This record gives sequence, C-alpha cells and structure tokens, in this order.
Amino acid sequence: PEMFSPQLVDFIGDCLIKDMNQRPFARELLEHPLLLAVSSFEEKIRKELQSEIKQQRAEGRSCRAPDATTKRGKLKSHRKARPEKMYTDDLATLEVLTEEGIVEQLQKRYNQNQIYTYIGDILVAVNPFTDIGIYTKKSQQIYQSRCRSDNPPHIYAVADAAHQALLHQKQHQAIVISGESGAGKTESANLLLKQLVFLSKTQNRNLEEKILQVNPIMEAFGNARTGINANSSRFGKYLDLSMMRMGRISGARISVYLLEQSRVVHQALGESNFHVFYLSLRWLGKRRTEHNVHRWRQLNQAFKVVGFNEDEVQIIYKMLAAILHLGDIEFGEAASNDNTDNKATIIDTAPLHRASCLLGVETTDLRECLTSSSVVARGETIARHSSPTEAAVARDATARGLYARAFDRIVERINALLCHNRFQGYDQLSIGILDIFGFENFTKNSFEQLCINIANEQIQYYFNQHIFTWEQQEYMAEGVPVDLVEFSDNRPVLDMLLSRPMGLLALLDEESRFPRSSDRSLIEKFHNNLKSKYYVRPKSDAICFAIHHFAGRVVYQANGFLEKNRNFLPPEVVQLMRQSQYDIIRFLFQCPVTKTGNLYSPLQGDLDTRTLESPVSGDMRDRYNSRGLASQSRAQQTVATYFRYSLMELLQKMVSGSPQFVRCLKPNDSRSPKHFDSTKILKQLRYTGVLETIRIRQNGFSHRLVFEEFLKRYSFLAFSYNEEVKPSRDSCRKLLVRLKMDGWALGKSKVFLKYYHVEVLARIYEEQIRKV
Ligand code: ADP
Ligand code: MG
Repeated sequence: PEMFSPQLVDFIGDCLIKDMNQRPFARELLEHPLLLAVSSFEEKIRKELQSEIKQQRAEGRSCRAPDATTKRGKLKSHRKARPEKMYTDDLATLEVLTEEGIVEQLQKRYNQNQIYTYIGDILVAVNPFTDIGIYTKKSQQIYQSRCRSDNPPHIYAVADAAHQALLHQKQHQAIVISGESGAGKTESANLLLKQLVFLSKTQNRNLEEKILQVNPIMEAFGNARTGINANSSRFGKYLDLSMMRMGRISGARISVYLLEQSRVVHQALGESNFHVFYLSLRWLGKRRTEHNVHRWRQLNQAFKVVGFNEDEVQIIYKMLAAILHLGDIEFGEAASNDNTDNKATIIDTAPLHRASCLLGVETTDLRECLTSSSVVARGETIARHSSPTEAAVARDATARGLYARAFDRIVERINALLCHNRFQGYDQLSIGILDIFGFENFTKNSFEQLCINIANEQIQYYFNQHIFTWEQQEYMAEGVPVDLVEFSDNRPVLDMLLSRPMGLLALLDEESRFPRSSDRSLIEKFHNNLKSKYYVRPKSDAICFAIHHFAGRVVYQANGFLEKNRNFLPPEVVQLMRQSQYDIIRFLFQCPVTKTGNLYSPLQGDLDTRTLESPVSGDMRDRYNSRGLASQSRAQQTVATYFRYSLMELLQKMVSGSPQFVRCLKPNDSRSPKHFDSTKILKQLRYTGVLETIRIRQNGFSHRLVFEEFLKRYSFLAFSYNEEVKPSRDSCRKLLVRLKMDGWALGKSKVFLKYYHVEVLARIYEEQIRKV
C-alpha cells in the first residue's frame, strides 16, 4: 500500500467511509480500474484480496473477515449471515428499527435464556429472576481477552472490554449500571466484580478474597427488603478497583451515596429494616431463620477476611444492638404537680439502661439527652424539658445517627484495609463500577424516593450527554457527516430540581432554614415557585406534588420532607457520644458530618448556598474537570445539599474515565422467572432512550481519537520501524487501510471509529505483542 498514489489512497479511503451497507466489497476494490492501473500494486495484497473473495464465495457470504484476527467483516456477517435467525446479538445491526421489532428480539432471546443483548457497545440485561447457569468458571474463561463478537453477549464481556480498554488505552474506566429497582443492577455489579478479579490475576489471593467479601458486608448493612425487591440496595455505591499497568488489581475503594437512614426507625408497610438486624438471634429472635443463621456466619467470616479485628466488629454490633434497644424506649407524660406542661418520661427504663451500657455512656446522661434539650437564650444556655413527641424525635435521630456512623465506619475501614498505599500515585489506573439505587415509584413516595429518582435522572442525563450530545457535537465540529439523532433531553427536569436559587432542592433548603416552616409552607413554596411543566400541583390541597421524571410520573408526599432534610441530631447526643468509654464511638462522633449525609450541627446561620451550583448547567465536562470540589464547606449541610454535592463528586469521577453502560431491564413486576411482559419492557426501552441509542450506534462512531494519539498507539501495527509516520490525517488513513478496516471516518483532527473497530485493533495489537 505504501506504493499507492495519494489519489488512490484517498479513493480507497472514501469508499471505505461510505455507509456500511454500500461498502465496496473486496472484489469491487480489486477490479476497480484505478487499482488495476497502478502497476506497482503489490502482488501480495492482490493475493490476499483474492483469497478473501474465494472464502466469501465458499461460505456463500457477500463479505466476511479473511480470518479470525481481523474482524473487519463482522458487522456485515452479522447482517448478512444471520437473516434466517430470528434474533441478533447486537440490536445496532438491525436494518429495520421499530419498537415492536426490538421488543420481539429481546423476548425471543429471553425465552432462550439469552438475557443479554448488545446495542453497539452498550449491554442490555433482562432480569431472568432465576439462576440460568451462565456464570460458571467456564464462562469466566470464555470471556477472557476476547473479541466481543467471539461469544454471545454477557456481563462478563463488559468486564473484559473494560479491562482490555484500560490496558490498551491507559485510561480510567467506569462501568455505569442503570435500571429501575429490582432490574438486576446489584447482581450485575457483583458479577462484574467477580469477573474483573478473575481477569486481573492478582496473584494475591488474599487481596482477591478481601475484595470479593466487600459486597456481602455492604449488602448486610445497606440492603433491605422493599415492596419491589427483596434485596434492595438502600444506598448508592461506586466501587473503584485500582489497577496496575499490566491490569492487575492492586486495591479497591468504595464510595457510598446517601444511605436511606430513615429506614432504621421507620419502614413502610410490608418492608423491612436493613438485613443485618435480622441476622442475629439475640436481637430479633422471631425472624431468625436457618437462612439468617447462615448469613450471619457469612457476615462474620467476611469481616474477618477483609481484615476487621474482633474488637471493632464487636463495637459495630454493640451500636446495632443499642439502636434496637433505643427503638424499645417509649415515652409517656410525666405527672407534674402544676399540670402545665407535658414533660416526657421514659416508661420502661430497661431498654434505656441496655442501650447506654452498649454505647458505653451513663444511663442518666442518655436519659437527659433524650428528654431535654438546651436552648440558648440571651447568651445563656438553659435546659428545656421535651414533650413525649420531641423525645421520640430525638430518640429516632440518635438511632439514625448511630447507624449512619456505623455504616460510615465500615466503609472507611474497608477502604483502609483494601488500599495498597505502595502503589498509590504511581501510574495508577482504575475501573469503577457504579451501582446506585434504581428509579422508584411506590404508592407512597417520600424524600428518599425523590433523592433516589434525582440520582437516576442525573445518571440518565450523563448517559444522554455521553451517547448523544457530546458525540453529535463532535461530528459537527469535525465535519463528519452523521445523521443527527433526536433524543429526549431530561435537562429541563434536572434544572427544575437542582438549579439555584429556585430549583426544588434549593427551595427545600431555604425552607429548612426557617424554624417555623411546616410541610404546608413548604408545599406552598413549591407551588408558587416551580413553574415548569414537569412539576404538577395536586387538584386538592393535599400536601403532595408530582414530578414528570424521565422514567415516569411520580407523586410525592411532602410530609416530613423538612425534618428529613434537616436530619438533625441533637448536639447533646453528640456531646454524650464523645464521652463514650469506647474509643471508636468517641471517634465516630468527632466528625461533624457523616459520609452518607447525616449531620448534627443545628441549622443556625446561613447555609452556604453560593459554593454549590447546579451540576447540570453548562457543559458537564468543563464543570467537573475544572472545579475544585474539595474546598466546599461541608458544615451545616442539609441532606439535599450534601446529596447534590455527592452527586457532583460522582459525576466528576465518571467523566474522568471512559464509560461502559449496562442497562438492566425488569421483565415483570411480580419477580416471576421467565415471564416477559412486553408492555413493561417497552416502557423501559422508551424512557431510557434505547431506540435512539440504537439509531446513534448505527450511524455514529463511539470512539474518537486525535490523529497523534491514534498513531502513537497503533502505528506499529501497520508501519515498519524505518518508515516515517507524520502525525497527519493521511498517516491515519494509511494505517486504517493497511489494517484493512472499513467503516471508519476521518475528521479534521480525529479518527472516528465504530465500537467494533476498537475490538479489531485490540486483537491485532495482542497478536503483534505476542509475536514480538
Ligand atoms: P437492583 O439492584 O437493580 O434493584 P438486584 O440486582 O438486587 O436489583 O436484583 C433483584 C433480584 O433479581 C435479585 O435478588 C435476584 O433474585 C434477581 N436477579 C437479578 N439479576 C439476576 C441474574 N443475572 N440472574 C439471576 N437472577 C437475577
Ligand atoms: Mg441494587
């Protein structure tokens, strides 16, 4: 090819850029007069092309890859070789695109236990709700350093792709799993982790085992039974695996987002508290089953493996037991002589006594904390007796505060035990797995659902930005002609929720600052200020409102929003815990705010509203890359403020790497195996924009590299050592032509590749390395 005239190179290039459907076949190329006219046309290449045509004929295909090493015919072979098959592994290869067609494809596959399907580089997973035996050791091996098209779609292939991308592109990877509650996100995250550990061949069995034990611990403390999912994650989790250059895991770090603390003290009808409470006989004898005994042992084993020492686990259990005893404390009205006020008194002191012993504090002090509060009046601090209702609020806040801190403590210790300082900062790359709580719409939705749904809204926005906005902007900037795809942009909803100072969360924060505010004043504030078609006020004067989320309309009951947002822990309680006889408890109450958004400082003074801005305005990438988040004040935050902050932090992590998306779909609401409700699936396909995703994956180029970078990485695959390779468009074209790839495009400064090109390059790369 180096002998080709520039015109010819251009000609071939242009032929190849054409739409895949009209791609000139090898035969046409070979017989084209221009080619034939070049006298120096290498015999070798001619032969290769001829043998390819021969092979194609033999197999009755119009075009096929000449051998397994170059998969250039992959897309074609999908399209042409399989028309008789009723389904396809990759929806992006469908020629006719209708919603019904896609649902049908998914259903057919699902019925044959093919729960996974690709849309280009995105994996769609339909929850089987039963073990379908595809996660064996054998499958783990099959999905190791493979070209994606070698095997049927699988979650393990996503792990493999991220791992390979990390090795070849030397870039952070983030696997983003989304889907509604019960769709299979957490299972997917666990499977990804399992496969990444397998692929990384740590040679450090110890670290491997530790990492695999993290999830059982996190699930015991952070998951619970809900109406939708028996093992629902009640927190968001980002697990970051640090990787050495050769792809070995060297450590792990988890970040958690917004634990649903209110569950500790209150569960909706038919729901349960966090799993860990049911695992121990001492605490809740009635619900202790064989299964729970087993899980209790597993949990303790997991703690041991990860490296927790006996004492610290004991303290955590003490805190849990104390929470349960706190729950048994009931308040009545003290008989008072003058009959003027209703002072809270503790009816049965046994639970109070037990709780204080477990926490290592004086019983009288704990009683004092729960039944009175100090108020500052004209510079003087005076104790004021609480009413039974106020006392109950303080009790619940204490229980929540303890749980949040125990949870934080576990996360912190896991991170300390799994981080390998030795390698930190040294050329370290990572693969992150994001598993957040899925979209929720219950009969009764509260503040927790609002936060959860906002997080999902944000993830969907990130998905849209990545798949549609940035991609299309780039085509235009680079002058690459690609049909624009319309997609449903959820930014207006996010703006309505997160913008400042008039977004819903900002209004909530503002109202939370007023001591005299009430649920009624809050809802009125919402009604008066939120002028968006995505916000719906009720016809009646009920304290509720509805939001049109990307995934559907949700009605929220605003009762308790203010209290939950303030999440106030009395300073007296904090002071008391700082006197505990146990170091760990003392330590846990030193920090003003817990990671999961609990806070204790009274909401006096102004909330710093200027430092935090809406994560959605402006271009996310600039925003997250340029802004120093760490400097922002964490003191005196409401849950909403903290939540917004951690969402930004999360997005910052995600935009710093290249993402892989896993879309989990729920086939039915009754968790029945093998039941595929087409309407339900269609609804999810619609709101997640799957149809549009398919369209853009058909037209678009998911990978874009500047010429220089592209050549730096791959020039050795096609150029010999003594060849001069200028960092130019022409060199890139040469390289791609020499590697016999087609379907790519060249912009002004970048090479545009389809998702399968990357695979081909990785494959050739591997082979070359092996040869060397
Ligand atoms: P989410 O995290 O999205 O709320 P989960 O991952 O907890 O959902 O999945 C809910 C339930 O669905 C699981 O407890 C499990 O019973 C079932 N499930 C999910 N994924 C799979 C799978 N790949 N194979 C078998 N069962 C699954
Ligand atoms: Mg989950």
